[in-house]
Order: sequence, then C-alpha cells, then structure tokens
Amino acid sequence: MKVPFVSFLPLERELGAELRAAFERVLARSWYIGGEEDAAFERAFARAVGVDHCVGVGNGLDALLLILKAMGVGAGDEVIVPSNTFIATALAVTYAGAKPVFVEPVPETFNLDPARIEAALFPRTKAILPVHLYGQPCDMDAVMDVANRHGLPVVEDCAQAHGACWRGRPVGSFGLAAGFSFYPGKNLGALGDAGAAVTNDAALAEKTRALGNYGSDRKYHHLYQGHNSRLDELQAAFLSVKLPHLARIGEDRRRTAARYLSEIRHPEVILPAVRPEATPVWHIFAIRCARRAELEAFLKAEGIETGRHYPIPMHLQPCYASLGLPEGAFPLAEEISRTELSLPMYYGMTPEEVSAVIDAVNRFPRGGQP
Ligand SMILES: *Cc1c(COP(=O)(O)O)cnc(C)c1O
Repeated sequence: MKVPFVSFLPLERELGAELRAAFERVLARSWYIGGEEDAAFERAFARAVGVDHCVGVGNGLDALLLILKAMGVGAGDEVIVPSNTFIATALAVTYAGAKPVFVEPVPETFNLDPARIEAALFPRTKAILPVHLYGQPCDMDAVMDVANRHGLPVVEDCAQAHGACWRGRPVGSFGLAAGFSFYPGKNLGALGDAGAAVTNDAALAEKTRALGNYGSDRKYHHLYQGHNSRLDELQAAFLSVKLPHLARIGEDRRRTAARYLSEIRHPEVILPAVRPEATPVWHIFAIRCARRAELEAFLKAEGIETGRHYPIPMHLQPCYASLGLPEGAFPLAEEISRTELSLPMYYGMTPEEVSAVIDAVNRFPRGGQP
C-alpha cells in the first residue's frame, strides 16, 4: 500500500466548496489587502489562542522577526533558541541583527531543555525563543520559571503547534508574544504563504503591525524603516474557513499518533515521549533509529514515504559558518539530525494507511549483532 508523507486531499475534499465560496466573496468585494477578511480572521485567531491581539503577517518567519524588532531586539543582543529546530527560528534572530544562542533539547521530546537555559544566559540576552517543535508543547512551566527569574521576555515559535496545549492552555498564550506560520503544510495552512503574531500587549501588537506595513502608523507617515509583510484578504478568508476545524484536525492527528505510539514495536526504533501535561497536535511524528538510512529505504520500498526533520542542525549550516560553531558543539541536535525519521502524518489518514505504516516499521529487519 502506498502512503504519502503528507496529503492535503482529505481536508480539501471536505472544505473545497467553502474555500471556493470564500474566493468568490473576496473577488466580489474587489478588496485584497488590509480589509474585513483580515480583521475577522485576526479576531477569531486571537480568541482561539486565548490572547487579546493578533496581527496577520506574510509568513511565520516574519511573525517572529517583526515581534523581535518590535521588542527592540537588535545588534549586539542575544536570543536563546533551540539547537534543534527549523532554520526560520534562527533566521528571525539574525535578521533582527541579534545573535542566536543555541540550547540543546530533551532528546525524548525533541524540545528545548529548560534545565539548560540558565547556563546560556549572558548580560546581552534579550529574550528566550522556545519552539513547540513537531507540534509538541515545550515545558512552559519550566521555561516561564527561568524567564521570570531572570526578567526575560519569552517569544514562542508556534509555527508547528496550532492548538497544542500545555496543562490545557494553548501555546502562544504563555510568553510576551508568539509567532505562527500558516504555510500550506502546517496544521492550519493557507493556500499560500501567511503568518500571524499574537500577544496580550497592545503597544507591542501595534508596533508589530506598523513594522509589517512599511513602518507606518498612518498612510505615508513612516515611524520605522518597516517591512512589507501583511496577511492578504484571500489567505485570511481561506484561513477563516479552516480555523473552525482546527480542533478536530488536532484530534485526528492525535488518534493516528496514539496508534503509532501503542502499536509500533521495534527494538531499534525510539518513539517520541509525551509529557502528561502536554496535548500535542503532531505536526510531525518523529521517531529515532540508529540505522535511519536503512529504515528509510526499507519503508520506501514498502511504499511508505518519510521525511527528515532536519538533516543538518543550524549551527552546521553553511549560512551560519560565521558563528564559528564546530561539529560536536551541540551533540544532541547532531544526534537527532543523524537518527530522526518522520512518519506519514496528516489529517484524514485512513485506518488502513496507519496500519500499513505500523506494519512496515514493525517488519523492518533487525540489525545483526555488532
Ligand atoms: C515553518 C516554520 C517557521 C516559518 O514559517 P514560514 O511561514 O515558512 O515563514 C518558523 N519556525 C518553525 C519551527 C517552522 O516550522
């Protein structure tokens, strides 16, 4: 049986008519940037996250970058980021002019280890940027505890974790602000690029919005050298169609993950751990295996598509050679990059597809004794 790594078809089949109606509505109004669709989605998304303000922006990277700039993070400053995440987290920091300081994860959850934050704090540290990676919430009790003890603001990267909760509270509502991505492949995806910044701080929201709109507070009056990064009306209308379904999209992914967690049994496969406080939304279902390339090839031959998230840790990326961080600097992130394999995970996987993945992993021939 062929199982793709990801498919948008099940959701598109259910919501296609509504998405087309949203397109017709925007076209009939003939208004494409900064209008009522954007405002309506921002209100609904802020309510869903449990915060006061939402600012629609062009993508998830810009959401983080504009928040950091609005906070005044810039040249000479440092920001704590996980050593294991997608490159955008670090790019937001370096685009702001600051330096990313990497902190290692807890390998079992892949998320930032709060116990390691303190040792990475310096006088120039301006913020802590935890990522709710693969849709698993970070330990926000511990992160907020360190942050509060040192008087540091927290900016959450929620690009992979729409609707995920820690102790029943949605991610994005813990820190000073949070960035979301609505890239099509994310759990809440637009039909193109889109993102949002959320916060309870009205002044921060206003500055973030101005920074994404050429730095202007009113037309042709520019307070800052801003960016052009706005949520357009079409994407906002599409997102408003999908948002009411986010909770059941998360439930569907949790059903698939629950089967993976209980039915995959292989001595060489390490399954992700879930903390009792966590309600993950499984953007990615990441396993670890020392013989990853062999497992990957075996699954491919069985028709099961997989992914690697991410094959090269950020500190070893050519674009960050200037940070001067050698191989071995972040052994846990490096180990994850060598052993991580992502199994198929998307809304609407059939029980047969889930079974096919489980069955294939369990049949992966055991490695010989060394
Ligand atoms: C996708 C992603 C981003 C960036 O979002 P874009 O919309 O692609 O700019 C940021 N952080 C993480 C962890 C992501 O997965």
